[in-house]
Amino acid sequence: MIPLVKPYIADRCKMMPAIEQILYSGYIAEGEAVYKFEKEFGDYIGNPNVLVLSSGTAALHIALLLLDVGKGDEIISTAMTAEPTNTTIAITGAKVVWADVDEKTGLLDPESVRRKITPRTKAIMLVHYAGMVCDMDEFNKISKEYNIPIIEDTAHALGSKYDGKIIGSNSRFTCYSFQAIKQMTTVDGGAIAFRDEADVAAARKLRWFGLDKKVSRLENDITRAGYKYGMNNVTATIGSVQLQDTPDIIARYVSNGKYFDEKLAGASGVTLVPYYNNTEPSYWLYTMKVEKRDDFIKMMESKGILASTLHHRSDTHSVFNESKCELPGLDKFYSEFIHIPSGWWVTDEDREMIVDAIRQGW
Ligand SMILES: *Cc1c(COP(=O)(O)O)cnc(C)c1O
Repeated sequence: MIPLVKPYIADRCKMMPAIEQILYSGYIAEGEAVYKFEKEFGDYIGNPNVLVLSSGTAALHIALLLLDVGKGDEIISTAMTAEPTNTTIAITGAKVVWADVDEKTGLLDPESVRRKITPRTKAIMLVHYAGMVCDMDEFNKISKEYNIPIIEDTAHALGSKYDGKIIGSNSRFTCYSFQAIKQMTTVDGGAIAFRDEADVAAARKLRWFGLDKKVSRLENDITRAGYKYGMNNVTATIGSVQLQDTPDIIARYVSNGKYFDEKLAGASGVTLVPYYNNTEPSYWLYTMKVEKRDDFIKMMESKGILASTLHHRSDTHSVFNESKCELPGLDKFYSEFIHIPSGWWVTDEDREMIVDAIRQGW
C-alpha cells in the first residue's frame, strides 16, 4: 500500500555517526548543536529570527503567550486542521472563534474572517492546510486594516511559498512542526519564526522557565514563568542532518503535486483545488475533491493506494462546544475532499499508476 504519510530519515551513513558523536559528547541538553541547527533552519526559511523548540505545539503556545492571550480574548481560527492548532488556543483560556473556509480549498475564507472580528479578537490563526497556502494577499490586508496579528500554523507547509519566498517572515509569528510525519522530522520538535527581532528575547525566556541562558543562574530574575519548550542537542543534531536533504525532499513533494495538478485536470469525477494568488503549495498531502468518495477510497485501496481524509474537523470536539456555529463552506468541503499520497516515497511509476487508476474511474 502506498501510504499517505511516511517519515523521511536521512541516510544511515550520515545520520548514525552524527547521533553517536553527540550522544557520547557529554553535552546532550540544549547547547551548541541546538544553536547550529537554529541558524541553519533560519537560513533555510530566510529569517534569522527563529527559535527551535520541543514541538510545533510549543511554537503555537509561545506565539499566544507573547500576545498575552487569555480568558476573555478571542482567536479566530479554522476547524479544518489537526487538533493542536485549536487545543493550544483552548489551554490559554481564550475562546476559539471559528471562521468558515473557502469551500473550494478548505482554507480560511478572508471574508468570513472579517465578519468574525470583534474588539476581543487578539489574533488570527491561519493554517496552511495540507501544504496549501492561505490567501495571504487578503489576510495581510485584514491584519493591517484591523491591526490584528496573524499566527501562521505552518506545520503542514514547510517549504510552501508566498510571494516567491519560503513561508517564515510574512506574519508576526510562523510556527513549524518537526513531528514524525511532517515534511521534515527531528523525531519530535518545532520552531517559531518572528517577523520582528524584538519578539525573540521574550520568547527565548519562555522557552526555558523564564530564565535568561546568557546570564548566570544567580543573576537571573524570573519576571514571567516560562515553560520547558527547548530542543536538546540530540534532536537538533538529527535536525541538522535532516535539513541537508530537506530542499530535495520538498522538491519531490512539489514535483508529485504539480504532476497531479497537470495530469488530473479534467478527470471525470475529480475537482482540483485552486491555489491563491502569489502562493505555491509544498503538497504535504495532495488534496482534491471527488464524487462518491467512499467508492473512490475503496477503488484506490484495491490498487494499493491509500486515499484518506486523514483529519477530523475540530469543531465537533466537546471542548469547543461554546464555539459552535454554522460553517456551510466547511460542510461542503468536508463532504468532498480527499488526500492522495504525494510525498518523497511516491516514485515516477507510482504517480503514473495513481493517475491511471483515477482516470479509469470508480
Ligand atoms: C502537527 C501539527 C501541529 C503540532 O505539531 P507538534 O510538533 O506535533 O506539536 C500543529 N498544527 C498542525 C496543523 C499540525 O499538523
